[in-house]
Amino acid sequence: MNSVALVTGGSRGIGRATAILLAQQGYAVGVNYLNNKTAAQSVVDEIQQAGGKAIALQADIADETQVVAMFKRLGEELGTITALVNNAGILFQQTTIENLSAERINKVLSTNLTGYFLCCREAVKIMSHRHGGKGGTIVNVSSAAARLGAPGEYVDYAASKGAVDTLTTGLALEVAAYGIRVNCVRPGLIYTEMHASGGEPGRVDRVKANLPMQRGGQPEEVAQAIYWLLSDSSSYVTGSFLDLAGGR
Ligand code: NAP
Repeated sequence: MNSVALVTGGSRGIGRATAILLAQQGYAVGVNYLNNKTAAQSVVDEIQQAGGKAIALQADIADETQVVAMFKRLGEELGTITALVNNAGILFQQTTIENLSAERINKVLSTNLTGYFLCCREAVKIMSHRHGGKGGTIVNVSSAAARLGAPGEYVDYAASKGAVDTLTTGLALEVAAYGIRVNCVRPGLIYTEMHASGGEPGRVDRVKANLPMQRGGQPEEVAQAIYWLLSDSSSYVTGSFLDLAGGR
């Protein structure tokens, strides 16, 4: 069976590293992005120049119609999906609960949670033995924030990641008998552009001395865990959580 992966938010950071690693491992990769077409195309170009197969897929994962269209295009252009990496995520300016608007909370939840649900739904419809599918694997990218709560920074973001953990548990149990494994990685402080969205691009370097391993993590270190959870090497693992947080 050909391996076909969709990596949401594959244009930058952890998603980028994951898309490139999966392509190196023989997956044809759909590189989803929201706005940054140039970044997504550079991932596709890098994969193709190394002899791999990839396409860029613009879609807002919070938008049901766009998600359905993205899965259709992936199937038509790369083949039947076998692996989904739910990775695209957002956060906003660091602040306390008193300053959170309903608009901001809903925006975070619609991307970080509804978006994950919608992509899981479309993948399950294709992968599940119940619908005549050949099975597959899903990895959700959560965060150490799900455990820590991100006080004074972005509790809305942390709560969305707590819900991703619950989604992982529930879906893993729901589809375990139908050929689909669902697992989760929870990165800690990883060097990506996401921290700039919180208003502190240098956040990892500020906090790293307080971490047990005293350093931030690289996107490639998270990608390795995602790949393992997608691969047959983890064939008896489902509903599991892998923390990549330097001991935090
Ligand atoms: P990042 O560098 O900010 O990249 C975010 C990616 O998500 C980009 O590809 C972006 O596309 C895409 N995206 C954002 N909203 C989207 C939407 N509505 N639909 C489709 N794509 C969307 O992020 P990152 O740091 O690599 O984070 C990746 C995941 O890891 C997230 O779920 C994040 O919560 C989690 N995580 C990160 C850290 C960390 O320290 N960095 C720690 C724990 C967990 P564009 O390029 O088009 O904007």
